[in-house]
Amino acid sequence: MKIESVYFDEEHHLFRETLRAFVEKELKPHADEWEQAGMFPNELFRAFGKLGYLGLRFPVEYGGQGLDYWYTVVLCEELVRCQSLGVGVGLLVQSEMATSVINKYGTPEQKREFLAPAIAGEKIAALGITEPGHGSNVANLRTTARRDGDDWVINGSKTFISNGTRANFITLAARTGGEGARGVSLILVPTDAKGFSVGRALKKMGTHSSDIAELFFQDVRVPVSNLVGEPGRGFAYVMELFQGERLVLASFANGIMQALWEEALNYGRAREVFGLPIVGHQAWRHRLADLLTQMEAARQLTYFACDRLNRTASAQKEVSMAKLYACELVKRVAETVLQLHGGYGYMEEYPVCRFYRDVAAFGIGAGTSEIMREIIAKEAIG
Ligand SMILES: Cc1cc2nc3c(=O)[nH]c(=O)nc-3n(C[C@H](O)[C@H](O)[C@H](O)COP(=O)(O)OP(=O)(O)OC[C@H]3O[C@@H](n4cnc5c(N)ncnc54)[C@H](O)[C@@H]3O)c2cc1C
Repeated sequence: MKIESVYFDEEHHLFRETLRAFVEKELKPHADEWEQAGMFPNELFRAFGKLGYLGLRFPVEYGGQGLDYWYTVVLCEELVRCQSLGVGVGLLVQSEMATSVINKYGTPEQKREFLAPAIAGEKIAALGITEPGHGSNVANLRTTARRDGDDWVINGSKTFISNGTRANFITLAARTGGEGARGVSLILVPTDAKGFSVGRALKKMGTHSSDIAELFFQDVRVPVSNLVGEPGRGFAYVMELFQGERLVLASFANGIMQALWEEALNYGRAREVFGLPIVGHQAWRHRLADLLTQMEAARQLTYFACDRLNRTASAQKEVSMAKLYACELVKRVAETVLQLHGGYGYMEEYPVCRFYRDVAAFGIGAGTSEIMREIIAKEAIG
């Protein structure tokens, strides 16, 4: 089925078709196994690297494809159809969240050491921002990096870090200067550095096939050359690059809503209640019509944000609107589609059950819905 949009040309459609076939054939059959194992295999990073999916937007020079955000949007919409959301989360943390900043502000040496192997799937990356005491308030984070000769000496802890149990390096936000946003820098920390340790692998409500961990840093030394961009600009970089991360979340949400819609139609047409298929009852027809209308609005808002981000590299308000709207809507869609399934929707063997759990985090990760409203209000109202 073709996803219609004025923004897509034949190459985008072809990319989607190829990806959809790959997801159906190579990923979906393993979804239950990976969910139960609580982890998809590391080899998937390499497989995705070989296919070029980990470097869609990155320069050809470092092994990337040199494409734009549209391909990332399509990748996200299609990956979620494997019915194991953790796969998309793990891979997009690698290809968008932890590495974009290296691509944009990293030195050639950093790109060779960290970006190129991440694009190839040879190194696994994680983004370390959230701390036990500070999540939304990134400017207030407490992990420190003190300069000592030619090293940074890092102390502190992070939590909820996706890919955290298996990452080869962390793109870490740490305080190199004084208080507030201007004291924050980004530093690349190899996880084989002495003093680094992984705490608990945390048990999540959903997205079971991706890992999430606590990380500890005790006098971890890394060369000063591992600082990305300028010291004290880390907060600004994070805010800039969160745009890509939020576009990813909105696109995951749109992909899941599409999959849920198909589940609703399949089930609602096959199951009869009181002599009619469920979707033959006007109560459901109207409810579904409302959902479809809102889903289309979410998708087009996301595409609008993507277009702006591609053209101007600065679309804070638009991306925040797309993330807010799509990520709140997907929770309502999952709830409604579960309700349409009756008791079966509550059973693990129906995809809606897993989706319902997975989407509970959509208003939290990559900036909460409240923070999205703050950003929109600040830009629109002042
Ligand atoms: C599945 C998952 C994966 C994640 N992966 C990563 C990762 O890879 N790397 C990483 O660094 N982090 C990751 N996180 C952490 C995530 O980014 C944080 O959970 C999120 O930023 C919120 O921070 P917090 O949990 O500390 O909540 P808090 O900041 O403590 O917020 C608690 C509540 O207060 C609200 N609130 C906060 N500020 C305001 C305000 N000014 N006005 C009104 N309400 C407000 C919030 O919206 C929220 O509802 C992940 C989280 C999840 C659930």
